[in-house]
Amino acid sequence: MFNEKKIIDICKTNKWRLTEPRLKVLKIISLSNRPIKAYDILKKLGDLIKNPKPPTAYRAIEFWEKHNFIHRIESLNAYAVCNKKNTHNGSQFLICNDCGKVIESDLFDLPQILKKSTQNNAFKPLRWSLEINGTCNQCS
Ligand SMILES: [Zn+2]
Ligand SMILES: [Zn+2]
Repeated sequence: MFNEKKIIDICKTNKWRLTEPRLKVLKIISLSNRPIKAYDILKKLGDLIKNPKPPTAYRAIEFWEKHNFIHRIESLNAYAVCNKKNTHNGSQFLICNDCGKVIESDLFDLPQILKKSTQNNAFKPLRWSLEINGTCNQCS
């Protein structure tokens, strides 16, 4: 759900600069019931702001992605709002091949088997994501 007041409060608390296009971009992504591509975000932003420049939209997307309010679904090249606490480093997405719905799973820690593999390679993981394609309960 898009709670404008809450977003404004979070930005104030963290001293993040919240501009009008940033707020509108987050609203567009939040209200979309499917992951939305950057180009479509820009198009929708054009309905709310007069002639937005592409960098304005892309920078706003970057801003929310950096702060974990939205996630980039790599395989779809699209963005979805974070449905979990905006504080996790790991994300998993269950993507329905039939209806395009994306469910965010809430496994925040790297699974043990992957943790072990990173340790064996003396690799320090920062962020990770996992995308699983399949069918949702409404489509199967
Ligand atoms: Zn998330
Ligand atoms: Zn489905």
